[in-house]
Amino acid sequence: MGVLHSIWIFLRKRRFQAVGNVDAVCPYCNNTLEKKPGRKKKCPSCNNFIYVRTRPKDGKKVLVTKDQTELLKEQWSIVNGTHAEFLENKRIIENERRFLAKKFGREPSENDIRWSLLNKELMTHANNANWGLYRNAKFQMAEILRAESKTSPALAIYLEVLYLDVNGPNNISGIRDRALLKEFPPFNEKDAFLAPGVLSKVVDLIQELNLDDKGTKAIFNEIAERNFSNLRLPVTPEQGWRKIKKELFT
Ligand SMILES: [Zn+2]
Repeated sequence: MGVLHSIWIFLRKRRFQAVGNVDAVCPYCNNTLEKKPGRKKKCPSCNNFIYVRTRPKDGKKVLVTKDQTELLKEQWSIVNGTHAEFLENKRIIENERRFLAKKFGREPSENDIRWSLLNKELMTHANNANWGLYRNAKFQMAEILRAESKTSPALAIYLEVLYLDVNGPNNISGIRDRALLKEFPPFNEKDAFLAPGVLSKVVDLIQELNLDDKGTKAIFNEIAERNFSNLRLPVTPEQGWRKIKKELFT
């Protein structure tokens, strides 16, 4: 970045609105808090979630409302040179909100919107054979279900993520050339990796649901069989389960 750009950013920052409270004061009800929280916390007096963010204007840690987190996100995107993407993303979300409101006959939740967008993402990634991104979208969906305490469906999707992971998903970005595909296969066992973060979440959910390895395998098999035939995966559900079971139950 050049000097002119740095000056521009400096001037832009100065013009930013000073969002949030530097002091230990609730951004919703102005109640003075016992201590300035270090991360997301409920206000004891109004029960709203207080968010903790760094604001680009002066680099100070501030307490903000949910809406103000969006405002700061926008300010940061201006500083980071990604404002166009920020606006595009916002437009996509608002379109989806309107579409779902019509479909449901009520205002959709933030998770409804994210879920719907993730479903579209899945299709795009599958069409382009970007299986790493596809796997990440699946993971985000499992996270939404878990956050909504939908334990069983969350577990099923996390297990699906693990099954994709033992197959080593790659991003092919629409390559159709056969020779190239041989060199860069969409799934490659050699790229298999079981993420500790996913494994520990699965272990928690299994405990929550009081499942043993047989019960877990039944859920895994159903979803793995479908993926195995639809995505033509190199690792069979049986082989995959052997690897995953070792990580989950020993
Ligand atoms: Zn409050």
